[in-house]
Amino acid sequence: MNIKDRTDIVVVGGGLAGLSASFALSRAGRQVAVFEGDSEVGGLSKTIRWGDFRFDLGGHRFITKNEKTERFVKTLLEGQYLTVPRKSKIYMQNKFFDYPLKPSNALFGLGIPTTLRVISDYSKEKIKNLFRTPKNISLEDWVVSHFGRTMFTIYFKEYSEKVWGIEWISEEWVSQRISGLSLGVAIKNAFFKFSGQEVNTLVDKFIYPPMGIGQISDRLKAEIEKENPVLTNTRAVQINHKNFLINSLIAANCDRRYEVRGSEFVSSIPLTGLVKMLTPPAPDDILDAVSKLKYRDLVIVTVMLDRERVTDLTWMYLPEQDMRLGRIHEPKNWSPHMAPEGKTHIVAEYFCFRGDGTWNLTDDQLVSLTVKQLEKLLAIRENEVIGSCVVRVPGAYPLFEVGYTKYYSRVLRYLRNFRNLHIIGRTGMFKYYNMDRAIETGIEVAEDILGKPQRKEREALPAGA
Ligand SMILES: Cc1cc2nc3c(=O)[nH]c(=O)nc-3n(C[C@H](O)[C@H](O)[C@H](O)COP(=O)(O)OP(=O)(O)OC[C@H]3O[C@@H](n4cnc5c(N)ncnc54)[C@H](O)[C@@H]3O)c2cc1C
Repeated sequence: MNIKDRTDIVVVGGGLAGLSASFALSRAGRQVAVFEGDSEVGGLSKTIRWGDFRFDLGGHRFITKNEKTERFVKTLLEGQYLTVPRKSKIYMQNKFFDYPLKPSNALFGLGIPTTLRVISDYSKEKIKNLFRTPKNISLEDWVVSHFGRTMFTIYFKEYSEKVWGIEWISEEWVSQRISGLSLGVAIKNAFFKFSGQEVNTLVDKFIYPPMGIGQISDRLKAEIEKENPVLTNTRAVQINHKNFLINSLIAANCDRRYEVRGSEFVSSIPLTGLVKMLTPPAPDDILDAVSKLKYRDLVIVTVMLDRERVTDLTWMYLPEQDMRLGRIHEPKNWSPHMAPEGKTHIVAEYFCFRGDGTWNLTDDQLVSLTVKQLEKLLAIRENEVIGSCVVRVPGAYPLFEVGYTKYYSRVLRYLRNFRNLHIIGRTGMFKYYNMDRAIETGIEVAEDILGKPQRKEREALPAGA
């Protein structure tokens, strides 16, 4: 479908947030144009195809507490989804622990003296907390006041430094449901669960599309394209504005450059990138604040194996520093359609920063490093490897460094001045959102736009109305 010079709503970024917004707007009969820089839609929630193998950028399970969002996804998938039981392990101190941890497993794995130290430290913190409100500034403060010092040292310190790459993570990440926290809750549950309450992050079943998580985005794209264009391989490069009103977006691909005017602009691309695209440029203090906001990046190394199956797990977490890998999964345990019969693959996640030692390793070096670690961990053999694929994923996690909120709120305050700019999604809003929230922010913004008078109606209104 052709892109026109003028459309009603311009959506930048074809991840779940941008696609959900475009889907809801298209359904309501509005003219939308979607620009996605990558060759496929889906963003962080896409599924890569490598021959007959498929894999997500780190296994993506869909769970939500919101019935409306669950219905939305199930309807979109036309009832074609699997309900997958979760079975995960953590590898610590050269041992495998169940995840969620079970008290007996934790006790035998860690040994009685360490377990007693964990319980005693935890109790001490609980008693201290009766007499003072803990002042939590960093992740360390929060974990120590919730779990005790021993648990912080054994588990959280190494894992959080591995995931985030820095020591001083703001305690605010805790409230945004990071995977590290869900492990933390698991540990707390194993040792101290007396209430019998169900913890959302520990639910033992999840929804998964048979052909990988990217099926959700592919379905959204197919529905949008019944009415409106979705341009892949086309990056937004400039956003023109005047008097805090966005007038047009400039996007480009190898063949051509587009300038598209619109009434409303929706962005799900990295917040930092969005601000830098504004023309005329944002004031210096805003550009300075935005330069302080960072994302953590990810390298995914997938190794295809001439073997029916390696594990029976959905995830395996690897917190320790002497193992460079952060987490692995075997897609066949999520859906049998992810690998051909008789073969399987392991997807390894390396948390890193763009341009650091891990990111800059060559693909061959990354594959050989992965195979070596998998030989030790899962007893795979090098001669079973029949292929490999390396994907570098920039901007996988917003990085919540202690003090980031000062800069973040300054940027948000500035962006709120724009009357027709909407930011959505995990990457766009710099929030630790999972897929359900990314979808919801897209639908919510579509509802806001649909509730606004349209341009023609606005022009017909008397001045000042
Ligand atoms: C390793 C990992 C595992 C995860 N596991 C889970 C899980 O199990 N369950 C769960 O619910 N969530 C999970 N998530 C979170 C989930 O991936 C996100 O919540 C969701 O994909 C965010 O969607 P989004 O549209 O907000 O952002 P994104 O997916 O980042 O979409 C932004 C889009 O903008 C595009 N873009 C960027 N710049 C430009 C430009 N200049 N012009 C045009 N397009 C541009 C990008 O290519 C991308 O497609 C995981 C995330 C990671 C990193």
